[in-house]
Amino acid sequence: MDKKRFRQHAHDLVDWMADYLEGIEDLPVRSQVQPGDIEKQLPANPPEKAEAFDAIFDDFKSIVMPGITHWQHPKFFAYFPGNSSPPSVLAEMLMATLGTNAMLWQTSPAATEMEIRVIDWLRQACGLDDGFSGSIQTTASEATLSALLMAREKVSDYQINEKGFHDQPIMRLYVSAEAHSSIEKDARIAGYGADNVVKIEVDDDFAMDIQALKSRIAEDEAKGYIPACVIATLGATGTGGVDPLAEIGALCKEKDIFLHVDAAWAGSALILREWQWMAKGSELADSMVFNPHKWLLTNFDCSIHFVRDKDALIRTFSILPEYLKGATATAVTDFRDWGVPLGRRFRALKLWFVLRCYGIEGLQEILRRHIDLGQMAHDALASDLDFEITSPLKLSLFSFRHAPEGIEDLDVHNERLIRALNDSGDAYFTQTRVHGKYVIRWQVGQVDCQAHHITETLNLIKSTAARIST
Ligand code: PLP
Repeated sequence: MDKKRFRQHAHDLVDWMADYLEGIEDLPVRSQVQPGDIEKQLPANPPEKAEAFDAIFDDFKSIVMPGITHWQHPKFFAYFPGNSSPPSVLAEMLMATLGTNAMLWQTSPAATEMEIRVIDWLRQACGLDDGFSGSIQTTASEATLSALLMAREKVSDYQINEKGFHDQPIMRLYVSAEAHSSIEKDARIAGYGADNVVKIEVDDDFAMDIQALKSRIAEDEAKGYIPACVIATLGATGTGGVDPLAEIGALCKEKDIFLHVDAAWAGSALILREWQWMAKGSELADSMVFNPHKWLLTNFDCSIHFVRDKDALIRTFSILPEYLKGATATAVTDFRDWGVPLGRRFRALKLWFVLRCYGIEGLQEILRRHIDLGQMAHDALASDLDFEITSPLKLSLFSFRHAPEGIEDLDVHNERLIRALNDSGDAYFTQTRVHGKYVIRWQVGQVDCQAHHITETLNLIKSTAARIST
């Protein structure tokens, strides 16, 4: 494709993008295709000859689009939000055009220096102390893996990096029973083993029980295990539970245990002063992650990994073959040493666009609207005797189930309800289990969600529940 055609197609695509965003509410929120529907329309063999761009784009519209779940639809209430916003999309276009790899300072000094700056902007906006520096990683899973590797190397005095696990003691990792499954996955990858992930019971508010944590650590020490790391969750995926970070931090300091904070979703709300209490104790943490790609209007992927001791992080990851040696005489930051991947996208650019286009005040306004809308949805269901709130509102997340009298198996009934809601295309929810009950999570976080979307969805839930109950 020559540059002239590129210009023309780019204009066409931008028009399509704007039309898509304007018309998104006419589309079913969750894709309605069946497994295999898309694959069977894609040729089994690669194209031998060049094809016209218009033909490819037509196929995108007719084959790909039906298989898209519209995460930017205002009635997307499933999982956690996967925010996008116009300034972030525009920055993504520039990033793709530059096609830069921000692995070393010298491979694009602007990318590295802007990353340092926007991370510090976010640190300040979230009310975190200036002992944290950080980098942008792809996902919370990846940042937590880095934290687990740091903790492991701290315990082994960097011997596992050099010699492997030979002669190492068993290291234990403590998380709340509400913690995200990515932690167990990371623990497997980092060599702790899933059996050494100790799940601590939660209190009535779905927060880690600090007394239970103390007892489990004491029991493990008595058995000769090494408590290597505690991961505190701020905003658990199922229930929004917020672990008592200050108490956990004090315990970790006393015992010299590495403390990582998983604030993947709720971390964005730290830009709201009234929610900064959640991070009280973060000054005692060694590492912390949160995802602007969830709830801070920045397109996937964009995960912020703060660390207190960047030298320990770099010592965990640094490896320097000749071809990666930089040519600068002065010390510079090479972000390739701050995590698993060598190659890195210029993700700071989209944060820079988003933070400048909205300002912290603009972002605060949007998040506060989401929290108010979460409250509105919660209160409406709480005041209806046929519904049960199964976990209270935390930020903009709560869970509920339809529990009218006379229904024998409420789990099966609510499975039917969520299936009917999602099949309607008019809203999209996901489920979780609370105290063993099958329940429906409702999180509000899509950028354009307004009060009428909540009212319409409440009507949908009530009418669908009534229909499947007869
Ligand atoms: N931690 C929590 C609390 C989450 O809710 C999630 C995902 O929803 C993750 C970690 C994993 O996030 P990522 O997809 O960025 O790895």
